[in-house]
Amino acid sequence: MTDPLDLNAAPAGNFIEQIIRDDLATGRVQSVVTRFPPEPNGYLHIGHAKSICLNFGLAEQFNGQCNLRFDDTNPEKESQEYVDAIIADVKWLGFQWAGEVRYASDYFAQLYQWAQHLVDNGLAYVCELNAEQMRDYRGTLTEPGRPSPYRERPASESRQLLEAMRCGDIDEGKMTLRAKIDMASPNINMRDPVLYRVRKVAHHRTGSDWNIYPNYDFAHGQEDAIEGVSHSVCTLEFAANRPLYNWFVENLPLPSLPRQYEFGRLNLTHTMTSKRKLKRLVDERVVDGWDDPRMPTISGLRRRGVTANAIREFCNSLAVAKTDGVVDIAQFEHFIRDDLNTHAPRAMCVIEPLKVVLTNCTGSEELTAANHPNRPELGARVLPFDSELYIDRTDFSEDTTLSRKKFKRLVLGEYVRLRGAYIIRADEVVRGDDGTISQLNCSLVEGTVGSDGPEGVRPRGVIHWVSAQHSQPAELRLYERLFTNPNVEQGDVDLLEQINPASLTVVTDARVEQSLAAAPQQTYQFEREGYFVREPSVQDRLVFNLTIGLRDSGRGQGK
Ligand code: ATP
Ligand code: MG
Repeated sequence: MTDPLDLNAAPAGNFIEQIIRDDLATGRVQSVVTRFPPEPNGYLHIGHAKSICLNFGLAEQFNGQCNLRFDDTNPEKESQEYVDAIIADVKWLGFQWAGEVRYASDYFAQLYQWAQHLVDNGLAYVCELNAEQMRDYRGTLTEPGRPSPYRERPASESRQLLEAMRCGDIDEGKMTLRAKIDMASPNINMRDPVLYRVRKVAHHRTGSDWNIYPNYDFAHGQEDAIEGVSHSVCTLEFAANRPLYNWFVENLPLPSLPRQYEFGRLNLTHTMTSKRKLKRLVDERVVDGWDDPRMPTISGLRRRGVTANAIREFCNSLAVAKTDGVVDIAQFEHFIRDDLNTHAPRAMCVIEPLKVVLTNCTGSEELTAANHPNRPELGARVLPFDSELYIDRTDFSEDTTLSRKKFKRLVLGEYVRLRGAYIIRADEVVRGDDGTISQLNCSLVEGTVGSDGPEGVRPRGVIHWVSAQHSQPAELRLYERLFTNPNVEQGDVDLLEQINPASLTVVTDARVEQSLAAAPQQTYQFEREGYFVREPSVQDRLVFNLTIGLRDSGRGQGK
């Protein structure tokens, strides 16, 4: 039993959980059926992940089921590519839907029969107003609408015309099927909404079988009813559509009685959660496709090395509220780092290589390093060590006046520890023709692998390194946020003008340790640099995408 005074007890849950508990207790429903209903007109984004976690999570929590159903009622904008991508993303997030994938288009025949039923019962009619006239007749928020002149035509006539629409005998824009509800309703959705439009467009699943397609409102609740969905959870913008949802439930002979509940959609700072806007970035080639690592899409996040676990944990941490809110992207980044810090194996990569020659090192040896500092079960790897190494250029300074506290790296004449290896001292700087430092001559302190140096040898800090000979060249793609403005969608500045020009920096001459030569698709922590994952589309050389820096510095990269 949960003690209500125990602050550590499981929280009472969000308002939808409360509703479900009540519904089960009163017997309104016997079991819980939810659904995730994407329209296949783009790739899923982080906002969808919130809906996925909520719907699949509720089903799991209450021992029910969650369906995956494509709301594919708008053939112009939809495609099989999107269907496939959405299925892959939901799976990758770790969710399994009940039974087969479902499609609104599988129900087109049933929906059509229900449209006929409304016509036969005097609850729908074929209207011949064009779009502009219909707007005019609809009225405004302050003025009631006026009835269409076609509103009272005999049911038999509407029935015939509906059939003609379906067969392709009516041109697009000439007729619609409308519900006969209330032109004076304060809710504009109830002013004889359109149920079907003529669209002579092939559908990616039903081909040219249909010349009419149902509107969202006429389709969604009925699809829920067909599937026995008990709690149809959607975002707040559909709240005003709920009376219409219920009107169909009341006026059609449906096999079950679903109910709709709305929650606040997820908005994140510095990005946007709208397929339409994301599609623009893709179409205008601002990014390299829907799965560009800078995109807030599930596929982009995956390609960037964000784990499904981090996305789920983030989504589950969010309030399920009856108001919309904006979440700081730093909160999401916190979950990404937290997950990777726990799970990502460590490796070394030198982003800006500076050659180090160890003048007193004659042989070569194989050192080993743990893959994770506090998870021995992740094993260890070999680090080949010999007289020529690379360290990062920014880890050395000639300035001997730098305080030990401020610069915990290598300074001429002083010591530093190489991660998992020896303590070394910088003895001499070698310059190229242009005056820049081309090489450091250093000496190692014998016997210091895994143990302190002798009296007087006090390393300033620990830096990472790779063997010159036993390392691999690598390209790094360093990402920053695509938008520097936190409120991208507010104001009148066009999206494309707000793109951060530094959102991608390519480094072509980094060096990674030997063990990464055949790196699998897994996110690593490159020590002191950040989290990186292999770019999946390049196989013949090493390319890594920056997932995120180690610390929140506002930039992708941090030390
Ligand atoms: P978009 O505006 O990006 O096109 P949508 O709502 O039109 O989104 P759908 O494919 O219809 O996209 O969405 C499928 C489900 O995901 C719906 O139930 C919708 O309410 C939910 N959803 C979409 N965006 C968000 C979001 N930002 N936060 C939470 N849930 C969302
Ligand atoms: Mg939509």
